[in-house]
Amino acid sequence: MPTYDVVIIGSGLGGLLCGNILSKEGKNVCILEKQDQFGGNLQTFKRDGKEFDTGVHYVGGLGKGQNLHQYFKYAGIIDDLKIRQLDNDAFDKINFEGKSYSYAQGFDNFVETLVKDFPSERNALVEYKNQIKEICGHFPLYNLRPNLGLDNEHYYYEKCVGNFIQAITPNKTLQNVLAGNNLLYAGIPNKTPVAIHALITNSLIEGAYRFEDGSQQIADLLIASIRRNGGTLMNNSEVKKLQEKNGKLESAVLINGEIIEADYFISAIHPTLTLEMTDSKVLRKSYRSRINELDETISVFAMYFVFKPDSFPYLNYNYYHFNENDVWSIPKYNPENWPQEYLFLTLPTSNSRKYAETATAMTYMQFDEVKHWENSKIGNRGNEYEEFKKLKAEKLIAQIDRQYPGFKASLSTYYTSTPLSMKAYTGTRNGSMYGILHDCTDPLRTRISPKTKIPNLLLSGQNVNIHGVLGVTVGSVLTCTEMLGMEYLLEKINHA
Ligand SMILES: Cc1cc2nc3c(=O)[nH]c(=O)nc-3n(C[C@H](O)[C@H](O)[C@H](O)COP(=O)(O)OP(=O)(O)OC[C@H]3O[C@@H](n4cnc5c(N)ncnc54)[C@H](O)[C@@H]3O)c2cc1C
Repeated sequence: MPTYDVVIIGSGLGGLLCGNILSKEGKNVCILEKQDQFGGNLQTFKRDGKEFDTGVHYVGGLGKGQNLHQYFKYAGIIDDLKIRQLDNDAFDKINFEGKSYSYAQGFDNFVETLVKDFPSERNALVEYKNQIKEICGHFPLYNLRPNLGLDNEHYYYEKCVGNFIQAITPNKTLQNVLAGNNLLYAGIPNKTPVAIHALITNSLIEGAYRFEDGSQQIADLLIASIRRNGGTLMNNSEVKKLQEKNGKLESAVLINGEIIEADYFISAIHPTLTLEMTDSKVLRKSYRSRINELDETISVFAMYFVFKPDSFPYLNYNYYHFNENDVWSIPKYNPENWPQEYLFLTLPTSNSRKYAETATAMTYMQFDEVKHWENSKIGNRGNEYEEFKKLKAEKLIAQIDRQYPGFKASLSTYYTSTPLSMKAYTGTRNGSMYGILHDCTDPLRTRISPKTKIPNLLLSGQNVNIHGVLGVTVGSVLTCTEMLGMEYLLEKINHA
């Protein structure tokens, strides 16, 4: 008899949610995490006694009656989450050419707020609202309906976001405003499917929230619930190999040689890493090469700021700045002209109401720029790497200071992370921000099914469905329906 019903590889949101759902439904689960700390991108880390987020800053859909709220209610964590709703009339500000445009919460409010800046574009904005809602209506699990294969999700993976926005309005400035938070999905106008733009934008317009004192709380609450349900979590337990017998997986082998047996295996890590763990002939060569050849989303350079006490205001919105009147920065990425854009936000610590204690900023960075330091150990990459980071940090700080005069003077200290840090933390190829790059010109190739040809191996995490807290939540539910049944699980979630 195997020790567990299900072994789950990886304790990011994907792994933890699968563990939460399956243990709630009576399965004996074991989650294996290679790092010391559970949570993957949900992890927070401390510098100068202050908490910083790794990879989750704000989410949508947490209002009562909204999708993420209901999923987290079923998971049993909604009441204990410490969240802070962003400004109703401006949860995101999109800034270019010396002017800021606000995204407001609530679709009517969103339209009316932008109509103030674009009075002649009312019809276009109403059309945008209607189309976003129409698109999202075709995604059953996003709407807490069983996915019975009747909705045409695929159609919206075939449409590119650039064409979609251009068809809404010929007004270039409004086009840029509507695409202004594309850093949330590493948008490329002729590659990113409109589905991704619509699902993310819709949930934020319905309600945008930050996690007070960091997103680790999501991981901690899920871990506590899994343990209450009798589940096991093992840290420092990197899975090296998946062993097979008669075409089915039998056990996971850890880096220390320990063997963990189970009936089912869910891999909630990057699919290429999963494929490296098994030489099973059941997985066809064509499947392996398709997955291994997929492109990744770009990586990120992030900064973590600590302010002097009471020196910089807490801003209850996210600020996207672009140096040019063209917000699609990835296709024209150029290290010489860096940074082209950034997202800046103050962090919602319990003490930050009038003043912020900390802030973070993010901008794209290609892995190639740091690649040659990859083989040196963390902390031992030498002066050249430290100089590189310092130079980049100074450039980004100078840009933020231009938009927020006094920002630099209010800093007590700062820290940086490069694509190498992202790679080390999350195990994504080349420190990719959001995993596999979806491609509207070849959608079937870039969408990953939770099912594999190995009957007891399922996939989960951000590469199944889409990335982000909501995307990974929906993807985890999809994965678990393979074991529990679609209608059964949705019934349970809706009646939580
Ligand atoms: C900079 C940044 C900012 C972001 N901001 C937001 C945001 O504001 N809002 C939002 O909704 N989303 C945001 N995201 C996206 C979101 O964080 C991710 O999509 C999501 O957390 C991914 O969860 P996951 O479970 O798929 O993977 P991960 O969080 O990457 O978890 C994978 C886990 O598997 C472990 N692992 C890997 N290999 C092994 C192995 N061999 N054995 C055992 N364990 C292993 C890893 O250590 C890790 O803990 C952001 C991402 C980044 C990078």
